[in-house]
Amino acid sequence: MDPFGQLPWFALQNILSNLDLPSLHSLHNASPEVMVFLHRNHNLFTYIIDAIIENTARERGLMLHVQHAVRLIIFVWTRQSSHKSAVPVQEPDTDILGSLQLIREQSPYNPSPIWKTISPSTPSAILCQLLSLMTRLRCLTHAYFHSTISKCLQIHVEHLPKKTKYILTRGIVDPSQRPPGIPYTPVDIGPPTWLEEQRLLAGLLCIVLFYELRKTNNQVSSDDNVEGFWTTVFERGGQVEQIATLLHWLDGQASGHAKVYSWLLSGKGSEDYNRCCQRYTSMTDKQWVQAEIDLCSWRSSRGMQSLWRCYSPFRPYGVVFWDGIRMDALGLPEAQYSHYMWFTWSFMLTEEDWEEIRRRQGDPSFDRRR
Ligand SMILES: [Zn+2]
Repeated sequence: MDPFGQLPWFALQNILSNLDLPSLHSLHNASPEVMVFLHRNHNLFTYIIDAIIENTARERGLMLHVQHAVRLIIFVWTRQSSHKSAVPVQEPDTDILGSLQLIREQSPYNPSPIWKTISPSTPSAILCQLLSLMTRLRCLTHAYFHSTISKCLQIHVEHLPKKTKYILTRGIVDPSQRPPGIPYTPVDIGPPTWLEEQRLLAGLLCIVLFYELRKTNNQVSSDDNVEGFWTTVFERGGQVEQIATLLHWLDGQASGHAKVYSWLLSGKGSEDYNRCCQRYTSMTDKQWVQAEIDLCSWRSSRGMQSLWRCYSPFRPYGVVFWDGIRMDALGLPEAQYSHYMWFTWSFMLTEEDWEEIRRRQGDPSFDRRR
């Protein structure tokens, strides 16, 4: 007996509009009544998806630029399917590459207008394809989150003791000559915050969009690579670094650059991350406001803010995604206290990273390049 068949349509629409996309996907697959309802009431299916992603309650829905990414993927898929079926495109011609600007993180105080809602003529098959994709991305987001956080928790962190003055020298950085630090045990604050999850999701959606555009859009060539492509759209900054950080992880998972996209869509993960983290780590109003201020710059997150122009050694730890509340618990100081910050952050460096630093310090032009 499927209880959803007993409900009037508006009640069912209301219930479904208050889920998230992966939950709508599970319910669509688990309940024949829900499946029939969505496929028979085609307009309602698109309204429900729009309502879910546009939900403006705190920690619900998607951030504005993530909504744009989702709608753009639907648009690109619709075009691809109409190319295949030789049915003329019903959508007015849209400058897809111009619309990519809308996927740039934006200030919540000054949002850009909604690009457009999902077209009611979007085939149900494409809406189902979106639900599967969002379920897959939920798994990947959490697989990434849990594996990098466990790395962060294993770092042997030390803090530089507070004293009135440290003399900053630009001499050779030799780990053996550093002052003794105060050991700190990193604290796990639990599930991602909503903002951290949104940043991870946005990065994954940008990777998907690149590969989908490359299939059919003749302005994206087969020589383009993901990071280079998004650098031309966004210029360098937090979002491009987040994409590069995810690619670093995906390369490892897929064992090679060439297989990244097929692994992203359907590769086997070691665990099922569909059901972990039933709620977000919550932030106080003050932490929330601070995170929104960080968003207004190109730096995206507290983690990213600290890493200005110094990225790659820290990629395995995913710090560019983390909010201040997590950075504090992990014992990673802010950029405003630069020598305290670098003292602690240097515990993330490997032997090879130290070699590289020594090599660069031997190069007199290196200081100027920074
Ligand atoms: Zn999780």
